[in-house]
Amino acid sequence: MKKRETYTLLRNITLILSVPSLIFAAVLFLRFIVLGIEKPKAVQAPVEVSHRVLFISSYNPLYFTYESQVRGLEKSLYPRGIEYDVVYMYADERGQAGIDMFYNFLKAKLKDQKKYEAILLGDDDALKFAIDHQNEMFPKMPMVYFGINDYELARKASERPNMIGFYENDYLEETINLAMQLFPKRKTLVALHDQSSAGLSDIEIFWSLREKYKEYAFVDLDATLFSQNDLILLLESLPNDSILFYMTCYSDKSRNVYSMLSRTSTVVRSASVPIFRNYVGGEGMGILGGVHIDVEEQCEKAGEILAEILNGSKIESIPFVEQIPSRTTFDYNLMKHYNLDFSILPSDTVLYNRPVTFWEQYGKFLPAVGMLILAMLLFLISSNISRKIATELARSLQESRNRLIQREEELQHQAKYDEVLDIYNRRTITEWLHNTMGKGDVYSVIIIDIDNFKMLNENYGHSLADSILQYLVAMIRGLAEDGGWKLARFGGDEFLIVIPNERISMDCESIKALFDVLRSPIPLGDETLAITASMGASCSDEITAPDQHIINAEGAMYEAKVRGKNGLVIYDDDMKKKAQEEIVIKEKLQHAFDNDGFFMLYQPQIDSQTKKVSGYEALVRMKEPGIYPGQFIPVAERSGWIWRIGRITTELVIKQLAAWRDGGKELHPVSVNYSSNQLNDHGYVGFVEDLLKKYDIPPYLLEIEITEGLFLEKSALADEIFRRFKDLGIRLLMDDFGTGYSSLGYLTYIPVDVIKLDKSLVDTYLVDGKDSFIKNIIHLMHDLDKEMIIEGVEEEWQFNRLREFGADTIQGYFFSKPIPADEAIVFQTK
Ligand code: C2E
Ligand code: CA
Ligand code: CA
Repeated sequence: MKKRETYTLLRNITLILSVPSLIFAAVLFLRFIVLGIEKPKAVQAPVEVSHRVLFISSYNPLYFTYESQVRGLEKSLYPRGIEYDVVYMYADERGQAGIDMFYNFLKAKLKDQKKYEAILLGDDDALKFAIDHQNEMFPKMPMVYFGINDYELARKASERPNMIGFYENDYLEETINLAMQLFPKRKTLVALHDQSSAGLSDIEIFWSLREKYKEYAFVDLDATLFSQNDLILLLESLPNDSILFYMTCYSDKSRNVYSMLSRTSTVVRSASVPIFRNYVGGEGMGILGGVHIDVEEQCEKAGEILAEILNGSKIESIPFVEQIPSRTTFDYNLMKHYNLDFSILPSDTVLYNRPVTFWEQYGKFLPAVGMLILAMLLFLISSNISRKIATELARSLQESRNRLIQREEELQHQAKYDEVLDIYNRRTITEWLHNTMGKGDVYSVIIIDIDNFKMLNENYGHSLADSILQYLVAMIRGLAEDGGWKLARFGGDEFLIVIPNERISMDCESIKALFDVLRSPIPLGDETLAITASMGASCSDEITAPDQHIINAEGAMYEAKVRGKNGLVIYDDDMKKKAQEEIVIKEKLQHAFDNDGFFMLYQPQIDSQTKKVSGYEALVRMKEPGIYPGQFIPVAERSGWIWRIGRITTELVIKQLAAWRDGGKELHPVSVNYSSNQLNDHGYVGFVEDLLKKYDIPPYLLEIEITEGLFLEKSALADEIFRRFKDLGIRLLMDDFGTGYSSLGYLTYIPVDVIKLDKSLVDTYLVDGKDSFIKNIIHLMHDLDKEMIIEGVEEEWQFNRLREFGADTIQGYFFSKPIPADEAIVFQTK
């Protein structure tokens, strides 16, 4: 799998996972919001209220157990459709007088108002009251009591008819035991109590333990004996090793009754020793802890018993309850303060003031928060991966764009530069020149052509020839960079250089440097190679367009070739004139083609022995006066028209032969000139054949003059044409022998019957001391079975000497210039 695909997969997975996580987190949070709203304690409304009972409380609504009692009762009564009224006896505050007042009040209440089905009795005083007035006030009414500290009272009540309930057992001993374990070094146990029934039963138990724990000092602190201030003093001055047991203790010497809150406040603020308590109330207010009954649970059970009775259970069958479950409560801070061992406490101990742990406070949110974090994390990862994908994508885009740009640059480079030499190509330099140079700019255009590069190619092969060019380019490039020249490959072995800001001259520094580079030997392995080059240049003149300078330079370069290569020709007025003349000649040629504008002259060829005419060379002329073959033939060759001249002359000659024949004249072979550019006229041989047939001229009367160079080319096309001429029975003459690459070896195999020695050789060698060279050539040709025609013989002595040497035929002004046909046919030597 590719990198990007992996990323995309990962991104999708994390993104997909993050959504359910987020939803799940939201659900969890919603749950907390919904559940977090404190619902009112679900007390189900009863089907209907079917019973009404009366709760007689010994004290008042502020009494410290009252609230727990009511909570417990409601738990069991309300769902069962039992409602209750409460009446308070205020027994702790008002004593016997209060009880009497209550008696009157209740009697009136029961008589006047409601009818109750049962009675609930809270605490010792209410039970005593009920027992005292049972027959009179509550006849046959079921009664359930609770909160009774006096065991005997509770037990005896249970034996009475229509009464049952709970003994509120005291966990003082358990409290003391725990205190001893927690403070093994404290040996003074102080009991703080009052004279109430609960207070008295507490102290009784306290004293009973004295026997058991002999090493302990037991101290009785009866609050009923002291004023509030004295009590405070006493509490403040408790011995250091004491433990205070804060029991039932709400009244003082003056029979003032204190609330649980106020008493607790006094005790905890006065005593500086650990305070234990065997009752509910005051937890967390400065009391260290203790074991006590669970008031709420006791009252709930009492309610249940009452309900049973109301539903028809026999009250006699219900057992007296002596034991109520305990509840251990301790103050966390004080435990810490005294540096106590928590493990001593029972496992179900309720700890007050315990700081809420982080876990307790926020633990419930953790799954939701965790889920949220997970969702965010997943989302973060996915967006990170997305970013990664995006950058990855951008990177690869950039890469492919770079590749494209690079490819485009390469293509542009390829289009602009020569592949082999890595310099501008022809099109680029032409465009550059066209776009950069104006008529007013100063610059020179030079075209360089390596001389005889074709031979180099043949001798060394293409790749080495390329290396030679590369070497040359490297050398020229050095110059070009120094001089700010532009260098380009103009053709196979042609270079074009533009030299800005300079009009070069034959001996200027730039040209000298160029020739130095071109003529210095090129290292080829162990050897070196010397080459030469022909250069043509054209300089800006404020008239000529840049494009024309290229044409001019090319023309100058050809001129340099014509002038013998290895040199420079600067395009000048002469050349310009020539070029203009060429244009004129072209026009005239065109006119001549269209208007039968050519005629032939015939130069007689004389047999050197008999001095009689043995043949003629046909030479073309234009009817337009003043234009000679030396002018129009090269123009026709350059402009590709020579094939037309070839056909015209051939036809004129054959027609002439026919005319002569028809005139009864004696016929001699006539040779026509065949230019190498005529090779492209593939139909020429057929054309000749047709004409010979048409005019019924025997082929031997027509001879073809072919220049030495064409034989040297050794091209398949040339070979083919030579062979076809031979097959036709036409003789081939080699024209201008001695002007080309004079190697005599090839004469042995080329299909040539006659060799025409060029005038230049006659002029050069047919002089005293050198003429044996001519003689040897003649003898050699004869040995090779070739005839020899000597051209350009102008003097008698030349003729005589050549005749001595055995030359076969003489052609030259000495006998005759080219002359019209009717003169030629009757020509005779003097
Ligand atoms: P070429 O083939 O070498 O023709 C011989 C030239 O030498 C002729 O010049 C002729 O007039 C000249 N000539 C002959 N004897 C003498 C002499 O004793 N002294 C001097 N100085 N010149 C002599 P022409 O007719 O002016 O032709 C020049 C060239 O034009 C020819 O050279 C040939 O290459 C070409 N040419 C002429 N006619 C034709 C033609 O019909 N077809 C083709 N393709 N080329 C032709
Ligand atoms: Ca000729
Ligand atoms: Ca010739």
